[in-house]
Amino acid sequence: MRSHLLNDTTAEHYRRSVTEGIERVAAKLATTSRPFTGITADALSPRIDEIDLDQPLQDTAAALDELEDVYLRDAVYFHHPRYLAHLNCPVVIPAVLGEAILSAVNSSLDTWDQSAGGTLIERKLIDWTAGRIGLGENADGVFTSGGTQSNLQALLLAREEAKPGREGWEGPASFGTMRIFASEASHFSVKKSAELLGLGQDAVVSIPVGADQRMQTVALARELERCEQDGLVPMAVVATAGTTDFGSIDPLPEIAELCAQYGVWMHVDAAYGCGLLASVKYRGRIDGIERADSVTVDYHKSFFQPVSSSAVLVRDAATLRHATYHAEYLNPRRTIQERIPNQVDKSLQTTRRFDALKLWMTLRVMGADGIGQLFDEVCDLAVEGWKLLAADPRFDVVVEPALSTLVFRYIPADVTDPAEIDRANLHARKALFASGDAVVAGTKVGARHYLKFTLLNPETTTDDMTAVLDLIAGHAEQYLGESFDRAS
Ligand SMILES: *Cc1c(COP(=O)(O)O)cnc(C)c1O
Repeated sequence: MRSHLLNDTTAEHYRRSVTEGIERVAAKLATTSRPFTGITADALSPRIDEIDLDQPLQDTAAALDELEDVYLRDAVYFHHPRYLAHLNCPVVIPAVLGEAILSAVNSSLDTWDQSAGGTLIERKLIDWTAGRIGLGENADGVFTSGGTQSNLQALLLAREEAKPGREGWEGPASFGTMRIFASEASHFSVKKSAELLGLGQDAVVSIPVGADQRMQTVALARELERCEQDGLVPMAVVATAGTTDFGSIDPLPEIAELCAQYGVWMHVDAAYGCGLLASVKYRGRIDGIERADSVTVDYHKSFFQPVSSSAVLVRDAATLRHATYHAEYLNPRRTIQERIPNQVDKSLQTTRRFDALKLWMTLRVMGADGIGQLFDEVCDLAVEGWKLLAADPRFDVVVEPALSTLVFRYIPADVTDPAEIDRANLHARKALFASGDAVVAGTKVGARHYLKFTLLNPETTTDDMTAVLDLIAGHAEQYLGESFDRAS
């Protein structure tokens, strides 16, 4: 069994094993003609159920053959130009190389004595990102597992910063008086964070969005005012720079003004829109982000990085102390005096992947402009898609894209019942998924069901979009035809 341990004597075995795996994936990528096979969970689960985990195959090739059967053949492939569903990007090769290296060396970024250079590389990337945002001299941050964790950490810091010195403050008993303001199109992790932070169900005040799906700052001002009048504590405003559903970007400069006026922590959730930090053409769309107290960025959404790769950035490094705990065995207090850089002092996690290496390799090989150009391309593609949809009488399209998302629905000429149109769109999405020809997402706008293209693949063309729209219309028409037959 020792031959399976990665060490000085097994380097050759390692090389062969990993190469064998890479060969399989490369062959798969070269030959996938659809983003998905359309398999159902019911059809796939028996194949996984019947595997006896206590009966190992003792052979890499055999395990890879089996993996083909239970995973690779039917996986959902984000690199395919007709995968248009969620915020999943095709990944860039330098990042995949970084992934292979980081898992083999297996540094853990909690402490210097488990990572050495890894810690410094992560710190440099944090500084680089903070610099791109424009957070100033005292900025800092840390890599996280994703936007959800970044939002949680940012709101933890905001909660702690909002507490001290408040008149009548009674510790956690007062958590119920804290309020977070986020638009109705903000990510659900804001509510989840409020719950986890003990703030209670009423903590998140939902600010309406306009037809453009951006936070209405008039309503935000009104709610901040009301909060103050009610003797409640305005803890944070969460501005979303790229909503998950629409890619809409809240008016950051106006929100920053209001935050300054009311002395409230400004968090910018740029999990999606962070790609603009590298953009060559569209950086201006997130102007105002530099005024944030904290920022969430998901490199695994718009920097073409493999999952996970994400960070939370803060304007004032000192605020990260709210995540600092000391353990004698790991990061005793004296390590601070000794100036030993222990990233665990800034993180909610302890053992932590060296995800930063992927971004490092990406920047060192391609450069930021390379990433920015790819993201610009998908933003341009979204504009093309918007034109297609706006010109096509079969579809209703919701808002002109600020990033790379299009929300639309099929509207048959001869059907007026909105519930029936909902069902036709829901059916079209399902049928498309089952066919495997393309994958699109769905969402609701008001009470109605819509479909969604999240464009993150520069290889997707307008022809792909046209073809997928025809498929959607075809499935919806078929449904309506059958439903008409049922009714008559
Ligand atoms: C995706 C997303 C998140 C959550 O990020 P994860 O990496 O999935 O945890 C948070 N906010 C927004 C706006 C997002 O789009």
